[in-house]
Amino acid sequence: MYKHILFATDLSDDTDYIIAKVRGMRGYTGAQLSIIHVVEPLPGYSYAYLGIEDIEGQLIDESKTALAKLAEQLAVNAKDQWVEIGPTKSKILEIAQNIGADLIICGSHGRHGLSLLLGSTANAILHGAKCDVLTVRLPEEE
Ligand code: AMP
Repeated sequence: MYKHILFATDLSDDTDYIIAKVRGMRGYTGAQLSIIHVVEPLPGYSYAYLGIEDIEGQLIDESKTALAKLAEQLAVNAKDQWVEIGPTKSKILEIAQNIGADLIICGSHGRHGLSLLLGSTANAILHGAKCDVLTVRLPEEE
């Protein structure tokens, strides 16, 4: 069965729903669990005029804090928490390969996606991954 699961999270509210599935799959397989959140680089102009000096640094810090909270919920070691900067899709696939993940878990669509369609991140993971992928179908919005 699976030995190393990588859970890709956009840290949105939907994450709660997926967490239950991640926890279940981990319990069932006894696999090591890693979690990843990717911060996309911002366009290369300055935000200083908005009074924001290092917005990318702030985003990364906030992501690290949020991911650490999630890690606590899922009992994930610090060394298995990944906050990466770069193109989301390729970073998830790169880390999955580097850590030897044999299952990637992601949501079927992110916070801006249409629930009927597979989101572009989910789609890219499915097409690019060298391992199995579990896309958790998120409940319809009321
Ligand atoms: P999307 O395809 O962008 O609508 O998102 C589908 C799923 O891809 C989300 O539910 C997450 O599991 C994953 N995902 C999206 N964005 C990110 C991100 N920035 N970092 C890690 N995983 C992400």
